[in-house]
Amino acid sequence: MNEFGGTLELPLYDEHHRALARSASAWCAERSGVWDEARREPADKGATRVLRELGAGGWLGFLDPSSSGQAGDLRSACLMREVLANADDLADHAFAIQTLTAAPIQRHGDAAQRDLYLPGLATGELAGAFAVSEEQAGSDLAAVVLRAEPVPGGYVLDGHKTWIAQGTIADVYCVLARTGEGPGPLGLTAFLVPAGTPGLRAEPIDVIAPRSFARLEFTGCRVPADAVLGRRGGGYQVVLDALERARPTVGAAAVGFARRALTEALNHARGRPAYGGRLFDLPAVRSSLAELEIELSAAALMVGRAAWAADQAADHGSAGSGALSAAAKVFATEAAQRIVDRAVQIFGAAGLVSGAVPERLYRQIRSLRIYEGASEVLLASIAETLPNARTDARTDRTKEHRSR
Ligand SMILES: Cc1cc2nc3c(=O)[nH]c(=O)nc-3n(C[C@H](O)[C@H](O)[C@H](O)COP(=O)(O)OP(=O)(O)OC[C@H]3O[C@@H](n4cnc5c(N)ncnc54)[C@H](O)[C@@H]3O)c2cc1C
Repeated sequence: MNEFGGTLELPLYDEHHRALARSASAWCAERSGVWDEARREPADKGATRVLRELGAGGWLGFLDPSSSGQAGDLRSACLMREVLANADDLADHAFAIQTLTAAPIQRHGDAAQRDLYLPGLATGELAGAFAVSEEQAGSDLAAVVLRAEPVPGGYVLDGHKTWIAQGTIADVYCVLARTGEGPGPLGLTAFLVPAGTPGLRAEPIDVIAPRSFARLEFTGCRVPADAVLGRRGGGYQVVLDALERARPTVGAAAVGFARRALTEALNHARGRPAYGGRLFDLPAVRSSLAELEIELSAAALMVGRAAWAADQAADHGSAGSGALSAAAKVFATEAAQRIVDRAVQIFGAAGLVSGAVPERLYRQIRSLRIYEGASEVLLASIAETLPNARTDARTDRTKEHRSR
């Protein structure tokens, strides 16, 4: 079996996907020194260094298709996240947040906005951030309260955003704000707000796995009318589109982290002397590793299916399947959490030493079950798509009755 567990060879992928995954993997391996150095630096410095490295390597070029000629599809984005997460958390993080910020500009931005931001996002010279969550509006995005008050020539933003990835290094923020065209989700508008706009302040937040992460304060923050991204009152849809499209990529990152954990656990078990043999000789350890391999394969297949389906839908101009994307994210992130935990168990105490790979993975994997749709929220949305057994049974009985 190859480093992608055989999944890459399936007809879910084309030859250019395989070439991309292999060259990204080789590129990452050559840069292990860069990742190590970035990890030792303060979060902002390390995040910027890794972002520039990705840009210089050309891995973000697809964010600006008009300059690079690369369009990029969801399978490519998923494979990139799998490879990057397998190599380094910061590299995956930078790639994910640049993509999440650029995607709504590509899809909903006007020509001036695309020209202003996409070239810099695609070279890594500009860092982006996607600022949606608030303390009282995480899973329930329709509860966003940050206010954008219309004034002559633009808007004034007042309120806060929190848990914003790349928030301390971003040059541009995609911000969801309440403009009040309608109730709840109908009264929200997306804005592009450059860092350095007077009245915008970012405060760092320390998290379990050090990354650039911030709370943003908007106090009388004035933006011009052309900062609106998409249509006024259409912000909820802009954000939902971006999140739904990103979901399989979170599953893919989970597969990357889990594959790294399994590889490390396997190598450790093969090398660790135990009871006159090796840890790997113990049936319980072998069986644990076998279970992890099965879970990992299932997760990779679900991610591949969701990304393939989304790409097919995009090619045919139809909406993708939100349920497949949600299922891939839930399954892969939950499985990856179990895989990383059991990899730590196979390492024993050595897996808990600060900075050891299993210890890092244990901290890094945790947030994936929460961001871009917590597992429970996604399960509820998948449940909505299930055939309603009781309604269907009643409909069948009615049909029977009528036909008699
Ligand atoms: C590492 C990380 C990076 C992030 N990056 C960003 C970012 O860049 N930009 C941004 O805007 N936000 C970001 N977030 C915020 C993230 O999107 C929110 O944390 C997420 O939406 C959950 O919101 P919350 O934390 O307020 O939890 P809550 O909404 O309070 O939910 C807490 C828990 O309640 C349960 N729950 C909530 N709703 C339901 C439901 N409908 N059904 C069943 N159970 C439910 C779930 O178990 C959930 O985990 C990030 C978060 C993390 C951890």
